[in-house]
Amino acid sequence: MKNKVMIITGAAMGLGYAAAKELASKGAHLVLVDYNQKSLEDAKSEIIKEFPQAKIITVIADVSKEDAVKNYVDEAVKAFGRIDGFYNNAGIEGRQAPITEYDVDVFKKVIDINLMGVYYGMRYVIPVMQKQQFGRIVNVASVGGIRGVLNQTPYVASKHAVSGMTKNAALEYGRDGILTNAIAPGAILTPMVAEAFKQVNPADPKAAESEYAQRNPTKRLGKPEEVAKLVAFLLSEDNGYVSGQTIAIDGGESNIY
Ligand code: NAD
Repeated sequence: MKNKVMIITGAAMGLGYAAAKELASKGAHLVLVDYNQKSLEDAKSEIIKEFPQAKIITVIADVSKEDAVKNYVDEAVKAFGRIDGFYNNAGIEGRQAPITEYDVDVFKKVIDINLMGVYYGMRYVIPVMQKQQFGRIVNVASVGGIRGVLNQTPYVASKHAVSGMTKNAALEYGRDGILTNAIAPGAILTPMVAEAFKQVNPADPKAAESEYAQRNPTKRLGKPEEVAKLVAFLLSEDNGYVSGQTIAIDGGESNIY
C-alpha cells in the first residue's frame, strides 16, 4: 500500500472515512471525494493529524454528476500521475416506504447516486487503470444488494445493480490487470445507519438499534473500521485473484432464513 494512490468517494464520514484512515495508516496517498465540503475538510485534517506523512487531496463532487466524476479522476491523475485503487463508496439510503407509496423523485435520486454514481466512477477510472495495466476497484453494494429489504426498493434495486456492474467490470477488464469486487455490508454503525434508526423509532433510536442488533448472530452492529480492513485488502496487491465477487460483511446475518 505504500505510495499507492487511492480514490475514495463518500470520504467525509462513515465507511469512506474509516477506509481513508486505514489506507493512510498503510502509507497510501489519498484522493478524498465528497459533496459535503465542510465534513470533507474536517476529515482531511483529522487524518493528517493522525498520519502526518499522508499525501492527501480533496475534491468536492456530487458523484451523480458525470462532469464532477470526470473532474475528480482528472484531479487525481494531475496530483499523483496514477490511480492504483478506487473505493467507489458514496451512496444514500433514501426514505423508507413501501413500493406504492415511494416518492418517485427520491427513488430517482437514489438511483442517480447509488447506481449512476458508481457507473460514472468506473467509466472514468478504468481507462487510467488500463493504461497502467493495474488496478483494484471496490464498489459498495449492501446486504440489500443480495437480499430484499422492506420499504427500501430503490436502495435494493441500486445495490443489486452495483453487484451486477461489478461482475461485468471483472469480466471486461480482468485482462488489463484490473480486479473489481463489491462489498455487501450489513448494519454498520455509521451516520447513515444512525439516521435509519431515527426513522424507525424517532422517540428512542437507541432502542431501535439494540432491537436490530439482536437479529444478528453476533448480537451487535458492525464497525466501520472492520469494513475498512476488508476494503484495504481488496484494494491491495495482496488481492491477486479475487474478482467479480460481492462479499458480505455482516456478522453472518444474510445467511439467516
Ligand atoms: P454515511 O451517510 O455515513 O456516509 C456517506 C458519505 O457519502 C457522506 O460523507 C456523504 O456526504 C457522501 N455522499 C453521499 N452522497 C454523495 C454524492 N452524491 N456525492 C458525493 N458524496 C456523497 O454512509 P455510510 O454508512 O458510510 O455508507 C457508505 C456506503 O456504504 C453507501 O454506499 C451505503 O449504501 C453503503 N452501505 C452502508 C451500510 C451501513 O450499514 N452503514 C450498509 C450497507 C451499505
